[in-house]
Amino acid sequence: MLGSMMNYQLTLTSIMKHGKQINPHKEVVSITSDHDEHRCTLSDIFERSAQVANLLKAHDIKKGDRVATLAWNDFRHMELYYGIGCSGAVCHTINPRLHPDQVNFIVNDASDQVIFLDVMFIDLVKAVEAELTSVKKFIVLTSDASVVEGFGEKWSTYEADIGSHSTEFNWPELDENDPCQLCYTSGTTGNPKGVQYSHRALVLHTMAAIAPDAFSIGKNDCVLPVVPMFHVNAWGIPYMAAMTGCKLVLAGSKVADPKVLSRLIQDEGVTLAAGVPTVWNLLAQHLQENKISLTCLKKLVVGGTAMPPHLFRYFQDEQDMAIIHAWGMTEMSPLGTINHIQAKEMLEWDDEAQFEQKLKQGVPVYGIELKLINDDGQDVAWDGKASGNLLVRGPWVVDQYFNRPDVKNENGWFDTGDISIIDEHGYMKITDRSKDVIKSGGEWISSVDIENAMMSHPEVSLAAVIGVVHPKWDERPLLIIERHGDKELSYAEVTSHLTGKIAKWWMPDAIEYVDQIPMTATGKMHKLKLRETFTDYSF
Ligand code: AMP
Repeated sequence: MLGSMMNYQLTLTSIMKHGKQINPHKEVVSITSDHDEHRCTLSDIFERSAQVANLLKAHDIKKGDRVATLAWNDFRHMELYYGIGCSGAVCHTINPRLHPDQVNFIVNDASDQVIFLDVMFIDLVKAVEAELTSVKKFIVLTSDASVVEGFGEKWSTYEADIGSHSTEFNWPELDENDPCQLCYTSGTTGNPKGVQYSHRALVLHTMAAIAPDAFSIGKNDCVLPVVPMFHVNAWGIPYMAAMTGCKLVLAGSKVADPKVLSRLIQDEGVTLAAGVPTVWNLLAQHLQENKISLTCLKKLVVGGTAMPPHLFRYFQDEQDMAIIHAWGMTEMSPLGTINHIQAKEMLEWDDEAQFEQKLKQGVPVYGIELKLINDDGQDVAWDGKASGNLLVRGPWVVDQYFNRPDVKNENGWFDTGDISIIDEHGYMKITDRSKDVIKSGGEWISSVDIENAMMSHPEVSLAAVIGVVHPKWDERPLLIIERHGDKELSYAEVTSHLTGKIAKWWMPDAIEYVDQIPMTATGKMHKLKLRETFTDYSF
């Protein structure tokens, strides 16, 4: 016998309906290619989402069809999130920083029927247009019809297209397990793999992420997602806005411009901002140089890569912010663990011990289970010392990649590819990606710990550590530095800076300077490229 409760379907449509009814006047502020400052309400957005749904129907887009976006964070992208997903189609967000060959691969793999793109991505799409055989319409997100002049019938512009459609749509009753969003992994090795999210996964993820011990978002918050809407649903923030009624600030293509971010935060009264450390690093430099204090910004959500300690200290101590360090993946919608909670007994620890704890990636939010295993598949103890392969499971974790029945989860757990340590309080710490691990004399060296220690030096802008083949120890660490200014630190200066911060035998054997450390399309250091560059390196 089943329980006797309603079988209410957890769909994005239910979030949209709630937003429309309960939070219709909440503001969304955007920067777009055709607006320096655009203001609208959630109600406006949902009316235009209905126009999008009518437009898709007119183009014969059916339930489950993929409709792509190549776009920055703004109100139109949000209209597409809801208009596509709630009409039963799948909103496929494409990362415009990918190489055109990868964009080509992804569009074809997903069989995208329509692509909505920002003006600045016209050239990118034009370069591969002939190969995008599944696409029947390219719709540019602007009111300026001149941008598609002479491009042929397949091309049109958004405002003209949706403008001719009704703001009412008979939203279909969807199953909570139907797909609604699709995002490909950044794919540093091999082709990117698609993760197709269900309505249910995203609703449950949103509920978990807004909770007090997670992002802690409420009606009176003003949220700036610096994380792009083309990367894992902007960590779910567009759904959180409709669910909670917070104000949204969307910085368009200016997401990495610290001057614009600083202005937006102050002018709009942003209380929570979310993004990767690279952006917070740029913002910190700007704030320091211009002696700016962001008094309204109370919470900084940081994820994607580890938060370097010096940045953590700066925002916590100088800007008086709570740093919410989060870990997750495209395959996890993305939220897995979060760290801004200090259990009562931890508040009695000394400052250094508390800080060490805060730097970890945190405890799993309810809904996510963690498991640590060694290479033989045996459980690794949660003792704060032993490291292992991190596995996860939960209702918003991928079960099967899109179009890839050959890649399977084993025994109901997803292998994250991260190596981590979990302490007796359940706090998880990432020590490496399994592909980046350095094995020296049979023992693991954490490249992340060395990088974090090195990045606290004022002359260092970025630091990456890779393993290089060594005749005696199998591998030894090579430190690669991108300078902050002109000064090159000597080997002695580097080792003196690292002494006491890392184990003695982890000390890098050599340093190399590069003009720029290569980054992946999602803002992580591209270790694979570095390993290729230094493939024949000898100490
Ligand atoms: P992506 O799917 O592109 O979002 O990348 C997910 C990967 O980013 C994870 O498997 C981790 O290796 C890394 N990652 C995400 N958040 C963090 C974090 N807070 N600290 C360290 N690494 C992180």
